[in-house]
Amino acid sequence: MAELPSVERPWRLVLPQALYGRLHRHLFPGDGDEHGAVIAAGLAETNRGVRLLARELYLAVDGVDYVPGKRGYRMLKAGFISDRISGCSEEGLVYLAIHNHGGSDSVGFSSDDLRSHERGYPALLDINRGTPVGALVFAENAIAGDIWLPGERRVTLAGASIIGGSLQNLTPSPTPRSIGRSRLYNRQARLFGDAGQHILGGAKIGIIGLGGAGSLLAEYLGRLGVGEFVLADPDRAEPSNLPRLTAASGFDALVWLANENNPAWLRRLAARLSRPKVALARRNIRRANPNARIDAIFGNFLEPEIAAKFADCDYLFLAADTMRARLLFNAIVHQYLIPGVQVGAKVQVDLASGEVLDVYSVVRPVSPESGCLLCNKLINSAKLQEESVSEEERKGQRYVDEPEVVAPSVITLNAVAVAHAANDFLFYMTGLREPEATQAYMRAQPKCRQTWLDEPRKSPTCPECGGHPKSRLARGDARRLPVVERQTAQPLNRVKG
Ligand SMILES: [Zn+2]
Ligand SMILES: [Zn+2]
Repeated sequence: MAELPSVERPWRLVLPQALYGRLHRHLFPGDGDEHGAVIAAGLAETNRGVRLLARELYLAVDGVDYVPGKRGYRMLKAGFISDRISGCSEEGLVYLAIHNHGGSDSVGFSSDDLRSHERGYPALLDINRGTPVGALVFAENAIAGDIWLPGERRVTLAGASIIGGSLQNLTPSPTPRSIGRSRLYNRQARLFGDAGQHILGGAKIGIIGLGGAGSLLAEYLGRLGVGEFVLADPDRAEPSNLPRLTAASGFDALVWLANENNPAWLRRLAARLSRPKVALARRNIRRANPNARIDAIFGNFLEPEIAAKFADCDYLFLAADTMRARLLFNAIVHQYLIPGVQVGAKVQVDLASGEVLDVYSVVRPVSPESGCLLCNKLINSAKLQEESVSEEERKGQRYVDEPEVVAPSVITLNAVAVAHAANDFLFYMTGLREPEATQAYMRAQPKCRQTWLDEPRKSPTCPECGGHPKSRLARGDARRLPVVERQTAQPLNRVKG
């Protein structure tokens, strides 16, 4: 590991729900006994702390890999440990040895446990070439962790987040907090609970694209009391965007300067000076919640340093419909274990006749375990290539006076997708979503007043979400995000915001 991660900031473990389910069934089969396992995890260091990203789970077979201990009650057998630690060492992953104690809501290491860490972990740390090693102990609804780093540094795990179906947070012991009900959120806290409202206040969300869909997301999530936002969009408001941008005025788009009867130099001035879409979104969020922390980036998500700013969010909203944005968003979801959703609306028109063929709004949940956009053939390589053609080349291919073809776009179509996506986020974060709730993609078609659910596919060999050694899943900082070509202007197939 090139740089040692900080021990000053909190460390948390992130577990995808299915992986946690398998572990929980193994540790608590109802026999009241102790059981063992190992997790290999990626690591991501952010301003909010260090996140250990559970990638692989190895269950220790009772009596074979998990046996009566020489000093403690039970222990992982040496052969099992050495297989797992050499695997972690080869792949640069954090090694986490796991066992359970009895009890429900509180857990901690015994003095036997701690002595065994002191005997064993300095050597394991050497084998793992300085990538952290450690131990986790679980109770039914609690976790404690003791993580070892080079230089005799040690961290106590703050807790764990189980992501995917419905967010669940585990800590070493219940954290009694008296949360008062704010008058502001009194009505919605009757649904989410005061604790739920508190969770929203502590959440950090990313919105990629602040056009029609992103503008509504910012408004809804700002009103709902989400505490922290990262927003990115490279575009400024144009007069033709005004019917879809929340609370935008003619002044924001400099409508009188942009008037088509004005000389070209005035219109260019309007295009250069009108208000960035992220600034409009930030203004709306501030109006709703003056305490919100907002990182409004007037720039393109496709640039690596901007994309990296989304890697410590709790939830991502993709509201920019380009293939390259999909590729990068999908990579962040899997590499950093951050659930997200892609939202959009489309109007398909026959180019020759102008006939409206189909109209739909889509909501596609993407989590590390379900809904990968690559597996579901939603990242089209031909279109990716098309988008790589720069703005200059595109203009060169077009006659000077030929108007740009813009896609139809309507605020209500965006609103359908955005409201569902925001509801999904709310019910996920506040624990209101039922465990069996579907993760299906949703498509609403107003022409026939039908809503369809499409069950997403998943391929075990996928380079993004697959569990094989080469996949991106849970790699954290060890892997680079895909480099999509740096661009200077609007991509080709952008749906006009
Ligand atoms: Zn123990
Ligand atoms: Zn996949």
